[in-house]
Amino acid sequence: MSKVENFLSVEEEQEIVLAIRQAELNTSGEIRVHIEKSTLLSHYNRAQEVFNSLKMFNTQAANAVLIYVAVEDHKFVIYGDKGINDVVSANFWDTTKNIMQEQFKRGDFKQGIIEGVLKAGEELKVHFPWKIDDEDELSNEISKG
Ligand code: CA
Ligand code: CA
Repeated sequence: MSKVENFLSVEEEQEIVLAIRQAELNTSGEIRVHIEKSTLLSHYNRAQEVFNSLKMFNTQAANAVLIYVAVEDHKFVIYGDKGINDVVSANFWDTTKNIMQEQFKRGDFKQGIIEGVLKAGEELKVHFPWKIDDEDELSNEISKG
């Protein structure tokens, strides 16, 4: 069994999925989490590749965000789609990053991801509030590479 599969228990994964569902009650934006051991690419490029392979561009407002985590590399990337980048400043994700970083430094990866997901939802809410006709456009399940 690879480290990625050991990284989070089934229960912890479910907690993260619940956090995604909770975050998406705030915003029309879609949040996904991808976890893998490591990558040879730059983490930004790999996040972009995962974003595309998960077809996360398939949202009406181009407002999906991927939280990409490379466990053994101790790196993560928050990768938002064009619709988000068009309306926010370059440091938009800094608060979310800082919250995640703090928990990761303590070694609490699950909590870092959960807090990151919830914070991303709050940040997205400002520009992309939840609407009554909202659809769950992208799966809330964790993707593992
Ligand atoms: Ca939605
Ligand atoms: Ca979703």
